[in-house]
Amino acid sequence: MRNNFNLDALVRPNVKAMEPYSSARDEFTEISDDLVYLDANENPFNTGVNRYPDPHQQKLKTILAKQRGINSSNLLLGNGSDEILDLLFRAFCEPKTDSIITVPPTYGMYKVLAGVNAVRNKEVLLTSSFQLIVAGILEAIDETTKLIFICSPNNPTGNSIASEDIQQLLASFRGLVVIDEAYIDFSKQQSWVNVLDEYPNLVVTQTLSKAYAMAGIRLGICIASEAIIAVLRKIKPPYNVNTLTQERAIAELESINDIKERIHLIISEKELLSKQLLEVNFIQDVLPSDANFLLVRVDDANKRYTELTQQGIIVRNRSTQPMCDNTLRITIGTPSENKRLRTVLKNME
Ligand SMILES: *Cc1c(COP(=O)(O)O)cnc(C)c1O
Repeated sequence: MRNNFNLDALVRPNVKAMEPYSSARDEFTEISDDLVYLDANENPFNTGVNRYPDPHQQKLKTILAKQRGINSSNLLLGNGSDEILDLLFRAFCEPKTDSIITVPPTYGMYKVLAGVNAVRNKEVLLTSSFQLIVAGILEAIDETTKLIFICSPNNPTGNSIASEDIQQLLASFRGLVVIDEAYIDFSKQQSWVNVLDEYPNLVVTQTLSKAYAMAGIRLGICIASEAIIAVLRKIKPPYNVNTLTQERAIAELESINDIKERIHLIISEKELLSKQLLEVNFIQDVLPSDANFLLVRVDDANKRYTELTQQGIIVRNRSTQPMCDNTLRITIGTPSENKRLRTVLKNME
């Protein structure tokens, strides 16, 4: 099927008509000692944070773009990827008119944001092995469908979504396919960023919250064509990524080897833990995971959740999600935390 992708036809009319807000700091982004800044009504006394942040996060974007082998113009940064997901709704989905498709069981924010933005959410369940039903998704698409959200590796199931299936959607859907790669750094799978040039309707989101150990600074990453990024840039709040976040992210990314080392440790702990969990007699299944968590099926999730909580271990009960009855989602902790988890589970037998 040939995909006559037309970005212009997807953008909401009010967004198309807008000029981006131009902030004072847009005109002079480099804070230099030689210049006197009387343009933004800032406080002139230096506290380290008295100036507005760079609204385009140029230094941070240069580092992130280099690490991903792309250009800065393919990047938009947000206050967590949750802000980026919200911007996608606001740029492309007309409230009370347009719709999106999600594929549960998956990340809950897509549905929440659809609700907030008054956009209809059509759900097409995954298969029992948590893969896409491509024919069902294609059937659910109509002229109001603007976005399809695919989470890979998927939360809460942990598996990656088959790339042939995603390719098929990218090739046939005339809206945007948003691939949430929050857990990509724990996976052996290639990032979809590598094929950005092949698909004008591809949007990838990533985050510093998980593998990069910076959930507290809130930095989300959107990677897409320059044209899509330009639309999002038009509507993003000018100072959505604050100075402290930009500075801390730059500092941490300079120690990329430390970040990679922690990722490797989490992956090896996950492999160890997934074997050990199978030895617990009330754990029936440990799902294969490309992420930093394991979804386990137990005899009675409510009971086991309560028992774990009483022992001071907090996990997530995912039993209300479709096809996830009696499942607990367990994040991989430090080696000593994982050991404690194992001891507590054994004592619960
Ligand atoms: C944790 C998570 C995120 C991260 O969101 P941030 O707002 O960047 O912290 C995004 N998507 C999925 C699927 C997640 O599990």
